[in-house]
Amino acid sequence: TNPGKDYDILCKIVVIGDSGVGKTSLLQRFAEQHFSDTHITTIGVDFKLRTIQVGNVRVKLQVWDTAGQEKFRVITKTYYRNAAGIIVAYDVTNGESFANTKRWIEEVKNNCGDDGVPIVLVGNKCDSENKCVTYNDQEEYAKLMKLKFFETSAKENINVDEVFVELTKLILDRQ
Ligand code: GDP
Ligand code: MG
Repeated sequence: TNPGKDYDILCKIVVIGDSGVGKTSLLQRFAEQHFSDTHITTIGVDFKLRTIQVGNVRVKLQVWDTAGQEKFRVITKTYYRNAAGIIVAYDVTNGESFANTKRWIEEVKNNCGDDGVPIVLVGNKCDSENKCVTYNDQEEYAKLMKLKFFETSAKENINVDEVFVELTKLILDRQ
């Protein structure tokens, strides 16, 4: 514990994945249901803060969002610097975004080293009627990649907090 502070540890989390999968929406859903959030915008980068409690540790999450540069696949190395955990998001109504997670995971390995950082896979828009990536597809893929996955809906607030709690647990397990 850390008396005099409102948190015990600070973790940088980055959210990546194809454009349009709902990264910014997930982050907004996560951060804005708490009063303790802060919004800071600079050129090209953007993050929000929210403190969660996991066990008896208060973890301040600094969650980074791209400013749309993923469209051009030119996310800079600085975006990944000192990341403690990564969310790789795709859209369950868009098979291509699911297939592209392989490239995003590659990119994490290139930027964060091989023993790397914890990654959680997130299949967003599970509320949609146009779902085309099945639960089984995701489950098999996650197993193959040895990663955890969640189906989420930023829109309906399904599993969003769970993603961040799980990733934080994976981060804490390493410390
Ligand atoms: P980003 O480019 O990955 O940051 O994606 P955005 O957060 O900007 O979202 C792209 C589009 O998907 C927007 O029109 C959102 O309203 C929509 N969207 C985001 N999350 C969800 C969701 O959980 N369900 C549905 N149905 N639509 C979503
Ligand atoms: Mg965005």
